[in-house]
Amino acid sequence: MSSTGVVSAEAGPSTRRSEGKEAGVRVESGYNEYAEEYLATPAPKKRKRPTAPEATPPAPDDEHDTQNLLPPAPTAPKRKRTTKKTKEVDTTTFLPRVESPWKVGAHVSAAGGVENAVLNAAAIGANAFALFLKSQRKWEGPPLSSSSIRLFKERMKECGYDPKHVLPHGNYLVNLGNPDAAKRAKSYECFVDDLRRCESLGLKYYNFHPGSTVGDATPEESIRHISDSLNAAHKETEGIVTVLENMAGSGNVIGSSFAQIAAIIALVEDKTRVGVCVDTCHAHAAGYDISTAEGWEDVMKRFEEEIGLKYLCGMHLNDSKTACGSKRDRHENIGMGTLGIPAFHAILTDERTKGIPLILETASFERPVEVWGVEIGVLNALSELGRSVDSGADKGEAREGKKEKEDVEKEMEVLGGRVKEVVGRISKEVEKAKKAKGVKAKAKGGKRRKVGEDVGEDADDDGDEDD
Ligand SMILES: [Zn+2]
Ligand SMILES: [Zn+2]
Repeated sequence: MSSTGVVSAEAGPSTRRSEGKEAGVRVESGYNEYAEEYLATPAPKKRKRPTAPEATPPAPDDEHDTQNLLPPAPTAPKRKRTTKKTKEVDTTTFLPRVESPWKVGAHVSAAGGVENAVLNAAAIGANAFALFLKSQRKWEGPPLSSSSIRLFKERMKECGYDPKHVLPHGNYLVNLGNPDAAKRAKSYECFVDDLRRCESLGLKYYNFHPGSTVGDATPEESIRHISDSLNAAHKETEGIVTVLENMAGSGNVIGSSFAQIAAIIALVEDKTRVGVCVDTCHAHAAGYDISTAEGWEDVMKRFEEEIGLKYLCGMHLNDSKTACGSKRDRHENIGMGTLGIPAFHAILTDERTKGIPLILETASFERPVEVWGVEIGVLNALSELGRSVDSGADKGEAREGKKEKEDVEKEMEVLGGRVKEVVGRISKEVEKAKKAKGVKAKAKGGKRRKVGEDVGEDADDDGDEDD
């Protein structure tokens, strides 16, 4: 049975965990997907409270910050930042990659250089991935080194990734919708710099958050600024498709409705250079109820009518901690939120989502091989489940349709349980380790206060919300 095959492949993470550690592969997926911004030059920085965001309006997307605050980068031993190790990559510890038309992956760390993102993706059995091309919270970053570029391309080939399954994520500071011309110009520069990075890495897509009015303009004005910026950027660069992400809908943010996204696209001159990435958590939070198969179907219909399917070139697969229409962006691990497994089953069996990067932006608790490993395995297994049902239906054979449906539901439950088990266990372990660290830090006194602060940050993150 194909479905069981996948399920067992997916059981891998827990068993492989120790192998990965032993081998000490360079793949430790960096510490954390979004958390730290350390690309080409691993900044010898101490993790402090973000040094007051340089003259930036709270990014339109601090929605995502919740993810980023996860586990603080290791504060103690810095021994990991070795670059020389990148050569001896032990690929035998990588999780198996399932062959599937649905390209499931995660937003992996590019710590130590963009080239590492490729390995980090391969390590978790991803068939697609996202990465930051430079620090996502700084206006500038050191240029990509020629060796980074070379290694990135080499590894893409070695690991068998097609550029169209890579969806780089834009900088959080950029706001192309800012009515302030000087600030917009700064954003534009940063944006184009990223597009050039995509070009030099041989990539195809670039995903970004449309922008915000910052409360000083009408949405229409911001939309005009965004599309003007895109038109200019398209002329300055070649080939890269700029991919608008739908947003959760808080405050002055642009792009939480399909209508606004369509309005931006309508003003883009070269339509071959623009696309859309649907984030499931954002869509749900914005009021598009995709928690059921029918809901998903309905929302896809609206997408087709209002935007057009041909623009769909990627998705962010996140469950949501908040209710439909909450306008609050809180990513949750797959199957553990208000979307639930059936939503992802619907997505992962939909012909329309084949062949595009489907990217997890869920918390990995700094244990990506285990957490994303299991999530990817489960998502792949969901797509197998659907197919077995469909094939029976298509042929109209004497299939006990009802029984199969029940089986599928049961199977879904099992798969959902798997994520819950892994996430539950690992989050507890991480929490425990953090507490231990905090206690130790307190005992040591003032000098180590930083650690305590970090713990506080994380606690914040889980609890309250700011828009
Ligand atoms: Zn988000
Ligand atoms: Zn997203």
